[in-house]
Amino acid sequence: MDEKQKLLQELPSVDEILKIPDGIKWCKAYPRRYVLKAIRDVIDIRRKEILEVGYSDISMEGMSIDIEIKIQKLSSYSLQPVINATGIVIHTNLGRAALSEKVLENVKKVAGSYSNLEYNLEEGKRGKRYAHVTRVLREITGAEDVLIVNNNAAAVLLCLNTFAKGKEVIVSRGELVEIGGSFRLPDVMSSSGAILREVGTTNKTRLYDYKNAMNENTGLILKVHQSNYRITGFTEDVSVNDLKTLSEKYNIPLMYDLGSGCMIDLKPYGIYSEPRVQEIVKTDVDIITFSGDKLLGGPQGGVIVGRKEYIERLQRNPLTRAVRIDKLTLAAFEATLMEYIDEDKAVENIPTLKMLFQKPERIKERAKKIALNLKRRIKNAKIDVVEDASKAGGGSLPEVDFPTYAVSIKPESISVNDLEERLRKGTPVVIARIKENALLLDARTVKNEEINELVRGVQAALY
Ligand SMILES: *Cc1c(COP(=O)(O)O)cnc(C)c1O
Repeated sequence: MDEKQKLLQELPSVDEILKIPDGIKWCKAYPRRYVLKAIRDVIDIRRKEILEVGYSDISMEGMSIDIEIKIQKLSSYSLQPVINATGIVIHTNLGRAALSEKVLENVKKVAGSYSNLEYNLEEGKRGKRYAHVTRVLREITGAEDVLIVNNNAAAVLLCLNTFAKGKEVIVSRGELVEIGGSFRLPDVMSSSGAILREVGTTNKTRLYDYKNAMNENTGLILKVHQSNYRITGFTEDVSVNDLKTLSEKYNIPLMYDLGSGCMIDLKPYGIYSEPRVQEIVKTDVDIITFSGDKLLGGPQGGVIVGRKEYIERLQRNPLTRAVRIDKLTLAAFEATLMEYIDEDKAVENIPTLKMLFQKPERIKERAKKIALNLKRRIKNAKIDVVEDASKAGGGSLPEVDFPTYAVSIKPESISVNDLEERLRKGTPVVIARIKENALLLDARTVKNEEINELVRGVQAALY
């Protein structure tokens, strides 16, 4: 009998592997379907190797290790935490806002039991789902009434559908935005049944452009915050106050899609471009929409604040039921919004704001700590702390560079691209960026609790 035949005959069967102590252990800990699949796959790989190369490690120990890795892969969740070392705080691809422990605790409490979601405890009868965030949102924004839907895209869609179906919506050409992830204002407009009436030019729109576009079929005047881009140079746009005067004169509602939904004063941080929700509410705009998970730092959601009569009209639209938020989101919203009752505390307690506005010295300390830990363990790479700039991300504050510190890694045995890939596919998953032939770990978005894990991940990737 030749060597190949001999090895093939010695290859253990599925049943034999199931009977070894590891096999018994796996069947207790993992779904049987995945245990069987992993065993079969590993046997197949070994058989192929024998046939093609003439040799394979068919020892129980060797096979057992491979099987276990496969089982773990099969039974692990697809959606998993990653370490964000990109420095981009509102990273849409990485899930935008991370929530604080306090917010998570509230979600856990509400999600794990029954709640008064739609039950009025005072009166002992059916209550309103949105009532749980009405008071706090009114208090912090000054608005008459509120509604929260699945995301800001849904909020805009719902508003257009409610106030301007079959009617014209006047929008400046300088504000016809596309937000990453296929939210294009003209497309949302047509999906809602509203008719887009563009006015002005890309760089300049004046009040008379809006005025000239007014006719008996005008349903809404819409202002959109240029979230993820800025037009600079020879530009002009119409102020909210002027639009409000026009809207009152013609008795046409005015809506402002704010995008990010910033609720704190950014001027102390030298940022003047982002309108505050509270300021816009003061201008008496009829409807304001913004995201829950951009600068607000809460869960995914679309917040609509405005005049009571308009919110009531929204609530009567059957589409509202189709885009309603669930109790987990609501619990996260209420706890997040509560942090804004005290604005100073909001910057401390809401991770998004904390990461954006932490002092560069603190980031530097963290970068140094990471670098020091890495240098102790890693000899085959050049490791330094470097100054750099991070971006807010999520279509927020595109023109602002936030001074930051990053750990620069230049590997000696593999390429920078290989290192990036290994970190991305490793455990823990680390998402980093490459700049000028070095891998950068921006300490802005790395939490203190993640440092040890991050160091272990880099060490494993360079091993
Ligand atoms: C981000 C953004 C949206 C979409 O908000 P989502 O919450 O991502 O759905 C809509 N309009 C503007 C101006 C935005 O910046």
